[in-house]
Amino acid sequence: MWVSFPNLRPHLFSPRILQGLGSIFGRPLKINHATSFGFLPSVARVLVELDVSKKFPDKICVGPKNLGYVQLVTLEDLPLYYLHCKSLGHSKLECGILHPHLSQPLCRRIFMLLLCRI
Ligand SMILES: [Zn+2]
Repeated sequence: MWVSFPNLRPHLFSPRILQGLGSIFGRPLKINHATSFGFLPSVARVLVELDVSKKFPDKICVGPKNLGYVQLVTLEDLPLYYLHCKSLGHSKLECGILHPHLSQPLCRRIFMLLLCRI
């Protein structure tokens, strides 16, 4: 999943720092090509392998203690994940396990697909 840092300060556009920022969210895999070469200085993007069951901040503090600044963070295309049924693709309101009266509940369909593959 791409993690974006809009308006990241220019001195932070180094691979080592960007990987460090990405590692806050998970395992950094790749830095966006435009980010690496400074083609798109308005946003830095890092591809990160992350655990969608966790909650992530929408801002982080960057820089030394008492001198840092607040950096906004965007997780691009973060899929819906509902902890109750541990399924992707729907929210609490759409959960067929939590709301069995829903027609063709998505989490049950995914669960059945998983069972068929076992
Ligand atoms: Zn569900």
